[in-house]
Amino acid sequence: MMDVDVTQCIGCGGCRLVCRWNALRQNADGTYRIDSVRCRECGACADACPSGAIRRPAVREEIPR
Ligand code: SF4
Ligand code: SF4
Repeated sequence: MMDVDVTQCIGCGGCRLVCRWNALRQNADGTYRIDSVRCRECGACADACPSGAIRRPAVREEIPR
């Protein structure tokens, strides 16, 4: 699932603005977290994040025959 690395997050709010499913929540310290129930893993927040704080889920590579 998508996840915010709060040690990288600068609290700009860009992820919240681009999320179409309103899945970003602000922590008490100003950083953000992702509500995994709402998140559809579209990746828009990761693309918008200026600090690279949002990680995409690991993609499992198909083994070629
Ligand atoms: S991956 Fe998409 S749905 Fe999930 S928090 Fe980011 S922008 Fe929202
Ligand atoms: S876009 Fe990135 S740096 Fe900005 S609040 Fe979201 S996670 Fe933090």
